[in-house]
Amino acid sequence: MRTYAILSILIATLGLLSCNSSQSGQHTRPKINPKAEFVSLEGRVIGPVIKTEEEWKTELDAMEFHVLRQAGTERAFSGKYWDHHEEGTYSCRACELPLFESDKKFDSGTGWPSFSDEYMRGNVVQVSDNSYGMMRIEVNCARCGGHLGHVFNDGPEPTGLRYCINSVSLKFLEAKRN
Ligand SMILES: [Zn+2]
Repeated sequence: MRTYAILSILIATLGLLSCNSSQSGQHTRPKINPKAEFVSLEGRVIGPVIKTEEEWKTELDAMEFHVLRQAGTERAFSGKYWDHHEEGTYSCRACELPLFESDKKFDSGTGWPSFSDEYMRGNVVQVSDNSYGMMRIEVNCARCGGHLGHVFNDGPEPTGLRYCINSVSLKFLEAKRN
């Protein structure tokens, strides 16, 4: 009985510690490859965008910084794009790398813009995320390391994927790629 009590306290303490670390805002952004090359929406070859958190803070508004740089999440049904149906491309809010397209967007009912595929392989990078006691796959912009959301495997065919993305991480552009 005593062992059980001590164990319970230990587990509770560990739980508190892990909660604190995931809610502290000290989220480590993925490393950017300084030699990586990407293609802009206009077809130009563009390099990575590497900035300090201080620099990002001056360029992004408070909510954009919280989501893109600290892996925050906007409230469901509160963003600009969950119910947005125009044709075009969704680029990264921070660096303008094209990430998703309207023809892969679907209504998931979650209150966040949801896509079944990426614009181009390599533009979105995946990192495992164990915060909040859940095993999830976080998705980030490969050019600037900005947090976008998560990807789940309960999406529509043919990919079966559901990219659940924060509107605040995206910038919609009506121009479509050729
Ligand atoms: Zn970006």
